[in-house]
Amino acid sequence: MTELLTLKAKERLTPDTHAYTFNRPEGFHFTPGHATELAIQREGWRDEGRPFTFTSLPEDDHLQFTIKSYPSHDGVTAQMATLQAGEMVEIDSPFGALEDKGPGTFLAAGAGITPFLAILRARAAGQRLDGCRLIYTNKTARDIILHEELARMPGLTTHFTVTDEPSPGVEHATIDRAWLSERIEDPSGRFYLCGPQGFVDSMRDALTGLGAAADLIHTEEGW
Ligand SMILES: Cc1cc2nc3c(=O)[nH]c(=O)nc-3n(C[C@H](O)[C@H](O)[C@H](O)COP(=O)(O)OP(=O)(O)OC[C@H]3O[C@@H](n4cnc5c(N)ncnc54)[C@H](O)[C@@H]3O)c2cc1C
Repeated sequence: MTELLTLKAKERLTPDTHAYTFNRPEGFHFTPGHATELAIQREGWRDEGRPFTFTSLPEDDHLQFTIKSYPSHDGVTAQMATLQAGEMVEIDSPFGALEDKGPGTFLAAGAGITPFLAILRARAAGQRLDGCRLIYTNKTARDIILHEELARMPGLTTHFTVTDEPSPGVEHATIDRAWLSERIEDPSGRFYLCGPQGFVDSMRDALTGLGAAADLIHTEEGW
């Protein structure tokens, strides 16, 4: 089932990431953490669907996506950054491997925060963040998507780390097994992973090495 959406607003969140707000078609439902195939309705781009995650709440009167653009490459994300209010995109039925299975530790890199943004916003709205922890890594502090909103979510424990340059208020570190072992007191909990495949693979290895159960590690492949 496809739907046509009209862009209502676009807001820059980091130098290369925007939040895009569209109308929500009547009766359209999705689960926080799920994504859809989105195709820009411009000449030459209608057949170029790419997966993006809903970052609005299911009950909001609009749909939102949070998209990191790669301008070095003339792909869909670079086109998205030039989209103007009134332009249209087509989306398909929602799908996804990541959804809220219970409190746990959410590990994200870069745009891999988007499924967790949806899940954590839904938990924040229901004041259900106790027992949830977010570990979010980026290249620099400027790349952290919605740093303030995430840091202020009541009940959520947050760790923001950067890999490329030291910056006040964030830890300059590479997340590896040693880093995780100092912070995760109890590896028997639930873990959610999202980001580039290399990040997901190394986090999964590190967590299982610390004793986490494979069936309590939830991931979205193919970013
Ligand atoms: C389920 C799912 C949900 C997702 N949700 C989101 C989301 O909410 N927000 C978000 O920002 N991203 C999300 N992504 C990632 C997003 O889908 C990709 O960033 C997007 O598909 C890239 O599209 P593109 O057309 O810009 O690049 P493509 O043309 O599709 O490029 C894809 C691949 O081409 C290669 N490439 C890139 N640049 C170059 C270059 N200059 N030269 C040669 N090769 C290059 C890279 O290997 C890249 O992975 C999601 C991915 C998945 C699987």
